[in-house]
Amino acid sequence: MRFELNHLESYDDIALLEELRRVAALLDKPKLTIKEFSANARVHGSTLQKRFGGWRKALQAAGLSERADRSNVKKYENEVIDAIKQTAKRLGKGTTITLRVFEAHTGLTGGPVRRIYGSWGAALSAAGLDQSALGKRYTDEECFENMLSVWTHYGRPPQHDEMNEPPSLVGSKAYVRRWGTWRKALKAFVERVNSEIPEDEPARNIESSERQQQIEQKKESRGPRDVPLALRYYVLKRDSFRCVVCGTSPAITRGVVLHVDHIHPWSKGGATVADNLRTTCEACNLGKGTSPA
Ligand SMILES: [Zn+2]
Repeated sequence: MRFELNHLESYDDIALLEELRRVAALLDKPKLTIKEFSANARVHGSTLQKRFGGWRKALQAAGLSERADRSNVKKYENEVIDAIKQTAKRLGKGTTITLRVFEAHTGLTGGPVRRIYGSWGAALSAAGLDQSALGKRYTDEECFENMLSVWTHYGRPPQHDEMNEPPSLVGSKAYVRRWGTWRKALKAFVERVNSEIPEDEPARNIESSERQQQIEQKKESRGPRDVPLALRYYVLKRDSFRCVVCGTSPAITRGVVLHVDHIHPWSKGGATVADNLRTTCEACNLGKGTSPA
């Protein structure tokens, strides 16, 4: 039985770095000296110093290199700015560099960046990439397109944080900025896609004359080759975001890619209407699936 908790359970590298991070978070100051650490930690700083070949290297190993001292902060700032610029260059114009994208591309962590700059947006500005230069003010329709692609990727409504990871191209902030909250953005999407009701869907919230007009318009042509957003959503939802041939779904099997395709090909006169569209996985769409037919 132990009577004091003045020591660590383990003294392996992981435990030491964990302690370093704990104390660093506790003493939320730009600089963390070995003396300050030792006064607040359950292990003396010299142990880390020996283990990692120096105090600065210990901080570095803990992902806290910017806490070493002021001159290092400056160096670290430059490192971050360079890394942001390089990432921007690599990803090309018009790509939103979210913090996660940055982390994934550079191996740097976001915490210190936030601490130094106050926010990720401020770091981007410091690198000369303010929000507007960065992109892109997305149109509502681009936001909705992106939402459907993420929705299709997961086979269910996407969550706020998932908008900040591939395959999403528009970050959650853009949605929140526009619609107030993520929930409201989802609501706006559903309203948008429900505003165009496919022919075979019974009308509910629409005047019958208006609906009649929609049907008349649709009968005039077989529609565009590319399936419009609302119709794509309608078909995916009707098919429960599952491949109608093999039954697979991204909600069950990660990585399944769903398409909405024409049953009677558009190139052979098939129309872009709900009845002629179905959800298939990539394998079945390419004719490589385990179709029973
Ligand atoms: Zn399939």
